[in-house]
Amino acid sequence: MDIVQVGEAVLRGKSKLLTRDEILTPPIQELITRMRDAMRNAPGVGLAAPQIGVPLSVAVIEDKPEYMKDIPEAVLTSRGRRPVPFHVVINPVLTLHPGTAVEFFEGCLSLAGFTAIVPRAQEVRVECLDQHGEPQVIEASGWYARILQHEIDHLNGTLYIDRMLSRSFSSVENHVRKWKDRPIEEVKRELNLDVES
Ligand code: ZN
Repeated sequence: MDIVQVGEAVLRGKSKLLTRDEILTPPIQELITRMRDAMRNAPGVGLAAPQIGVPLSVAVIEDKPEYMKDIPEAVLTSRGRRPVPFHVVINPVLTLHPGTAVEFFEGCLSLAGFTAIVPRAQEVRVECLDQHGEPQVIEASGWYARILQHEIDHLNGTLYIDRMLSRSFSSVENHVRKWKDRPIEEVKRELNLDVES
């Protein structure tokens, strides 16, 4: 399945909320399955319904241990990245916990081939419904908190490029070649990120 790329209006709209009864219908359950498969095929750690062209307030998240096997332990620790089992987030309401924003490179399946440094809250709380229409409260930190902020942004028509440090915008190719796994402060210095643009 193709992931909708930036420039399509569906990525810039506000997603429609679902009732519990709607969530339990076959079309929504099938949508969740399609989203799970599209996320795993990509592969990605999260996917929002607008990214497959559906303007509904549904996101799926999964960060598998196998995605981490080639990432150095120190990098995983600095990002607070730990495995997150598959789950579904519907009608989420996001609360950012106060604290210093954390900056890391972030990518998006709808901006294939690019990445940038994006400041995000270190800790968040999300109130939502799950795939059974049951209320859930998620307290998350580190990389999981970043994934939640990224996916919930999608449901509000916001992309990471709206929040990125614009001078850090990079092709994935250059990122892998030059910036991957280096301390973010070093990257910011070399890219002259403190220069007024
Ligand atoms: Zn995205």
